Amino acid sequence: RSGFACFIGRPNVGKSTLMNALVGTKVAITSSRPQTTRRAIRGIVHRPDAQLVVVDTPGLHKPRTLLGERLDSLVRSTLTEVDVIGFCVPADQAVGPGDRFIARELANVKKTPVVAIVTKTDLVPPRRVAEQLTAVAELGEAAGVGFADIVPCSGQGGFQVDLVGDLLIRRLPEG
Ligand code: GDP
Ligand code: MG
Repeated sequence: RSGFACFIGRPNVGKSTLMNALVGTKVAITSSRPQTTRRAIRGIVHRPDAQLVVVDTPGLHKPRTLLGERLDSLVRSTLTEVDVIGFCVPADQAVGPGDRFIARELANVKKTPVVAIVTKTDLVPPRRVAEQLTAVAELGEAAGVGFADIVPCSGQGGFQVDLVGDLLIRRLPEG
């Protein structure tokens, strides 16, 4: 089994940290060409029977400017071209308008499974992690996006990083 994944979420929610913790092979691609920026490969998650190529996305913001809208169109095309999406919401901040905006975008990408990831769990007590899992589930319901899984992890602390990889791989199409 093999396929492509990307991570989406507000800036500073821990996407890059999680990707770096997750991937076994870092592939440094530096180019100013927009296509290679869009296709930038973070690395590959290796399993005995599977591999997952993690590609980067620019941050998704609520578009306020034309430049912002163009960036967001790059994000949208990435979302439709990957096989599975990891949607990151941090444990230490209340779910807010930025998260709801992204969730609504994800509701439009109906064919691609979305795994919701509560990041930075090391920053809060377990009770707060549990509350955030519930809040993210409610966010999904309100936005009309069906999360394939909702998983807590800490990219920095190395907590359940492998599980995130396993869950993303499990949602890849067969073959
Ligand atoms: P991105 O903008 O979503 O890619 O977020 P980054 O991965 O760049 O992380 C943003 C900030 O949060 C950085 O200062 C990271 O060191 C910090 N950070 C990321 N993941 C974690 C985590 O799991 N725990 C803690 N405590 N901090 C984290
Ligand atoms: Mg980043």
